[in-house]
Amino acid sequence: MSSPKGSNKIFSCEFFPPRTDEGMEKLIAVRKKLDDQMQPEFYSVTFGAGGSTRDRTLETVDQLSKDGAAIAPHISCIGSTSEQIKQLLDTYIQMGVKRLVTLRGDIPEEGTGNNDFKHANELVEFIRKETGDHFHLEVAAYPEYHPESQSPATDFENFKRKAEAGANSAITQYFYNTDAYFRFIDKCGQAGLDIPVVPGIMPITNYTGLVRFSDTCGAEIPRWIRKQLEAYGDDMDSLKAFGTDVVTDICTRLLDQGAPGLHFYTLNQSVATLDIWQRI
Ligand code: FAD
Repeated sequence: MSSPKGSNKIFSCEFFPPRTDEGMEKLIAVRKKLDDQMQPEFYSVTFGAGGSTRDRTLETVDQLSKDGAAIAPHISCIGSTSEQIKQLLDTYIQMGVKRLVTLRGDIPEEGTGNNDFKHANELVEFIRKETGDHFHLEVAAYPEYHPESQSPATDFENFKRKAEAGANSAITQYFYNTDAYFRFIDKCGQAGLDIPVVPGIMPITNYTGLVRFSDTCGAEIPRWIRKQLEAYGDDMDSLKAFGTDVVTDICTRLLDQGAPGLHFYTLNQSVATLDIWQRI
């Protein structure tokens, strides 16, 4: 049997911008380890609304692309004017960036400030208008539905808008229910959407953080996983071993059943992602 990794699957890894110089050094080392074993197609770097977080994304993209790696910055439109987005696009073109993860972004608690765009489909449309086909545009997909969505049907319609505005492919919010992903893919087929939708994979390395984040972003942790993680308490070794088993099974099932690749939310760590990688 051939490896489920397959030759034409796309694997990628996500980082967030480190806050300190030391964090940046660590991230460069993490990237080297991922490079050595996985050779991902690209590394993406998340983006936060607000000046300082935005600058850190730029700085991280700059540092990581120094030795020629393909970096895909995330770009979100919430709280930005079209002029600010245009400037950022120009900067990325000058830096040699060819791929963007194009998002609305989370609405900050303090409100959105200047805002020329309401939704990600408008940003995709704007980038296409300003830069043609220069960028490969990724958008976000939500097999378990976006937390703000009014209904499953409207959420899917909104995803469709992004594809029709010119997205090349999509990365999903992470999930632990593979049926939700395959149902989403079926819906894409029925709607005539043929862009690749790559599952986002969140390795399980702790309990509290995962639960908190999952509640916010609308990712369901199935009861049997949640209960088992909770039961491990401070026994981190058992928790991580169980998490690796569960997520490896999910990845294998996804690839075996036709997922076009995997996007790992690394949280700037190599170990958990590589443990899974070696086993799929
Ligand atoms: P949209 O596609 O605009 O959707 C947002 C909500 O509006 C949905 O409920 C949708 O149904 C609805 N909607 C969409 N279009 C319309 C429309 N035209 N009319 C009416 N309703 C509409 N956040 C960050 O801040 N920084 C990051 O770097 C980041 N990276 C991410 C990477 C991935 C792969 C994913 C899955 C998420 C990421 N996020 C990030 C989180 C993301 O920004 C949030 O989930 C955000 O709330 C929605 O962004 P979106 O691009 O999906 O928005």
